[in-house]
Amino acid sequence: MIPVNEPLFGNREKALLGECIDTGWVSSEGPFVQKFEKMFASYAGVEHGIAVCNGTAALDVTIAAINLKPGDEVIMPAFTIISCAIAVVTHGGIPVLTDVEPDTWCMDTNQAAARITPRTRAIMPVHMYGHPVDMDPVMALAEKYNLYVIEDAAEAHGAEYKGRKCGSIGHISAFSFYANKIITTGEGGMVLTNSSPMAERARSYRNLCFGPDRQFSHPELGRNYRMTNLQAAVGVAQMERIDEFIVIKRRNAALYTELLSNVRGIQLPVEKPWAKNVYWMYSIVLDKDTGVDAKSMANELKTRGIGTRPFFTGMHEQPALQNMGLFKGERYPVSEEIARQGLYLPSGLTLTVTQIEKVCTAIKEIMEA
Ligand SMILES: *Cc1c(COP(=O)(O)O)cnc(C)c1O
Repeated sequence: MIPVNEPLFGNREKALLGECIDTGWVSSEGPFVQKFEKMFASYAGVEHGIAVCNGTAALDVTIAAINLKPGDEVIMPAFTIISCAIAVVTHGGIPVLTDVEPDTWCMDTNQAAARITPRTRAIMPVHMYGHPVDMDPVMALAEKYNLYVIEDAAEAHGAEYKGRKCGSIGHISAFSFYANKIITTGEGGMVLTNSSPMAERARSYRNLCFGPDRQFSHPELGRNYRMTNLQAAVGVAQMERIDEFIVIKRRNAALYTELLSNVRGIQLPVEKPWAKNVYWMYSIVLDKDTGVDAKSMANELKTRGIGTRPFFTGMHEQPALQNMGLFKGERYPVSEEIARQGLYLPSGLTLTVTQIEKVCTAIKEIMEA
């Protein structure tokens, strides 16, 4: 079986984990947490890093950090992971959707402009599958209407927009270090911001909002979203190799693109002139008129020992959100089509040339049949 993803670890992860065990520092009270925060923040060129237990928690922290109030609206793409919507509704906010661009699968920024109301407080662009959102129009809207920009950069470690790292452009950003992300800590996440007040709120919320004076007096309700020293130790070791990992991702993507470019009926990932795509997952969309949808392609590949994953299902098609009365009658045609026609191919860091060739040959056979 060629798995859809496989993390890449070395002796450094083992050595640093061994240090945690040997010294007994296994909780969030350990030296690797701050070290990892500093390394990750400085890699992105951002002042403050706040490590948390996963990417979903990181998004929740960003919403707490901007002090979202009930009834406030946050504009986000329909095509994303449900974590974005959960973070907003958890705080009583209202997710307001845009469709995505058909080539980058990222937020359509013209639609974001059209959805601004007096209740809008923030825009949440999601850098999809490693490709950055076109951030200039987003930042211009934020400036004009006095909004926060929350970047979801979970899939875009090291990706760049006009030479700037994803997660360093908006007011605050969220990352995930789940096992399939570019660097991993098993489970894990990070919030980045240049704002000291927001960083302080984020740190407090992550740690149950302990008050400054009395040790168990809490001025606000926080969460326990702390990252452990064990996770951070792995994170430090992974950060030492992040640039190498991105080179591997880009090299594998280039080979996929070369081998698939002459297969008819398949849309391949793009890299806009202003973008550095890190190709977190090599994603393809099958043309509707080929009669092959993502599910049948996934099944065919599975019988040939090749693992894939389907694209996200749009927020407006999520029963849990519809049941809250959200998105009634709303349609997002691009999100709907790619949700049915899109899938991503094996993209792990341990993938070999032979494996990529096998995947591409299989796709070619299936499309020609
Ligand atoms: C993975 C991911 C998350 C959530 O991260 P977890 O660590 O799995 O909670 C959030 N947003 C996007 C875009 C993701 O891909």
